Amino acid sequence: MSSVREEFGSLVFDDRIMKATLSKKVYDSLKKTIDQGQSLDINVANAVASAMKDWAVSKGATHYTHWFQPLTGITAEKHDSFISPSPDGGVIMEFSGKELIKGEPDASSFPSGGIRATFEARGYTAWDPTSYAFIKGKTLCIPTAFCSYGGEALDKKTPLLRSMQAINKQALRILRLFGNDTVKCVKTSVGPEQEYFLIDKQMYEKRPDLKFTGRTLFGARPPKGQEMDDHYFGVIKPRVLEYMEDLNVELWKLGILAKTEHNEVAPAQHELAPIYTTTNIATDHNQLTMEIMQKVASKHGLVCLLHEKPFDGVNGSGKHNNWSISTDEGTNLLSPGETPYENAQFLLFLCAVIKAVDDYQDLLRISVATAGNDHRLGANEAPPAVVSIFLGDELNGILEAIEKDEAYSGVEKTQIKLGVHVLPKFNRDTTDRNRTSPFAFTGNKFEFRMLGSSNSIACTNMMLNSAVAESLKTFADELEGAKDFDKALHDLIQRTIKEHKRIIFNGNGYDDSWIKEAVEERGLLNYKTTADCMPHILDKKNVDMLTSHKVFSEVELKSRCEIMLENYVKTVTIEANTMSSMTKTAIAPAIVSYTTDLAKSIKEKTSVCDTLLCTYEKEALTKLSCLTDCISIKLKELDDAIIALTPIESTEDKAYHIRDTVLPRMGELRALCDEAESITAKEYWPFPSYADLLFGVK
Ligand code: ADP
Ligand code: MG
Repeated sequence: MSSVREEFGSLVFDDRIMKATLSKKVYDSLKKTIDQGQSLDINVANAVASAMKDWAVSKGATHYTHWFQPLTGITAEKHDSFISPSPDGGVIMEFSGKELIKGEPDASSFPSGGIRATFEARGYTAWDPTSYAFIKGKTLCIPTAFCSYGGEALDKKTPLLRSMQAINKQALRILRLFGNDTVKCVKTSVGPEQEYFLIDKQMYEKRPDLKFTGRTLFGARPPKGQEMDDHYFGVIKPRVLEYMEDLNVELWKLGILAKTEHNEVAPAQHELAPIYTTTNIATDHNQLTMEIMQKVASKHGLVCLLHEKPFDGVNGSGKHNNWSISTDEGTNLLSPGETPYENAQFLLFLCAVIKAVDDYQDLLRISVATAGNDHRLGANEAPPAVVSIFLGDELNGILEAIEKDEAYSGVEKTQIKLGVHVLPKFNRDTTDRNRTSPFAFTGNKFEFRMLGSSNSIACTNMMLNSAVAESLKTFADELEGAKDFDKALHDLIQRTIKEHKRIIFNGNGYDDSWIKEAVEERGLLNYKTTADCMPHILDKKNVDMLTSHKVFSEVELKSRCEIMLENYVKTVTIEANTMSSMTKTAIAPAIVSYTTDLAKSIKEKTSVCDTLLCTYEKEALTKLSCLTDCISIKLKELDDAIIALTPIESTEDKAYHIRDTVLPRMGELRALCDEAESITAKEYWPFPSYADLLFGVK
């Protein structure tokens, strides 16, 4: 392989390639579009399209696609070839500016939550020049947004880009108040840490539940799980290491800054973290990363599971969204500064996040809500479903001192007067100890840990950016009118701490007593399932905030709520059907043949010698026969629950039925089948066991 430096970004139409292949005029004009959002001239688009095509063809591409992120959770693409007939009977490779800017996928099968039905059947895709085009296989992929003809967003990228504009606008107002007239724009950055499982492909192929639903719906606990904690940061197995090396190369080619990888807590679980980048690009990259992870796994005879909870009783997989705000001048606004003014500014941005997380706890919870992630949150392995912020002792001490106008006794006793005193330097290393917090300050960024491994990070970041934009807006409104800025700033920060300190919690988030305190004493929200939280996206305060910053229209929010609930209902329905079918066609027959053989054996043995007790066989036979009877009852109950879904009209009511009836019945059926597995001879059991799956890769 050529060197990493040569390989890095070799499949990306990035700034280096643009500079090299575009005329200065075209390049400058495109840069203005990318950096300042100026609209693009068609002549410029034509020139860019032509250069892009030549570059892609030189790399072996024959097709192009508008690559977008519909609301299904995956990415979508429709391939068109560059080929165009030439008068001499041959073909030429063509790609116009028009084709670059706008596409019209046959989008009628993408979810729209009713939007398209009321407008027009088709949607269109529009080029997002802020995210580089790249080559996948033989296809040039152009990152795009996906909208209805009425202009409503049907994807995840559009609201994310809008939220970035919103936070940019409000953050600039604040920076101007601190006398900064040179900053041109403020962007949020994200580094998402991605967890995943790797299992053997042959084992996977034998599990219909993994194939259809991404998770095991059955499986008795193995004798060894993760109790020894011997996998975490342990030596990486050779086959996994080869996979990781190959994966890195593929990601590097796409310009993705894959940086660290290590084993995670559960057996067969691993993590990959890229170096952080602008949120929009980080989102595209994370989406691509997930896709490439699965592709590369397949080449190695492995399967990469991105489901949040592939195995019961073993830690699930999450995604940590490391988030910060910085200026185009390179200042991280969540980093404590060197001067009193920088510190006051830092505290104001910190307070904006605290207020945002408190005011919009529900939106953050909603942004990570899927049927899969419901299995993790609150299950003593992932943060609880209650949102709270961890600041660490030192920062907490500083806020308390400000709140009470008391001396801060951290490093040396000082009365902190904002705008006058330099904050005591706090040790960054001590800030990241608490792994149980959903939203932790880690020195110069916040780490939101509630995301599920398969979630798109777009959803969380659009909510986070919007909520913080809203805090900054109320702050700017207040401060812009102030006569004495320093006093107004001090009062505002002090008041914000007082009003929102209930969201700050530095203790153990896994503790049951915390959930009690959070809900009963602090009045924090605890939405345990997707069905519980999703309808609240339409609460007036949320609609007001998101529409006022133009991140969503009300129609878009209604459609999103509908689609997310629909996804929840569909996901669980597929799981329930898969369970029912696996039980009927494989599990029950396996138990029957084992028990029949047991019965035969007892009969044969006692016919040879009638004093034989056959205790083991008889006990197993009795137990398994009883279990089969119970399984038969629970199976019928589950089938009835699935049938009962059809006549329910509203998606919201369907979701409640899933939560209250289907999921509990699935749990009951599973418990019985798992118990049967644990006493059935292995050769009879139709599926690879948890031990086979979790410890199968050497
Ligand atoms: P860990 O959380 O495992 O201790 P790190 O803190 O080193 O690991 O980084 C985790 C992720 O946070 C990485 O993807 C890294 O690029 C990202 N990150 C680091 N600094 C920032 C920042 N200022 N803004 C956003 N993400 C960041
Ligand atoms: Mg982390």
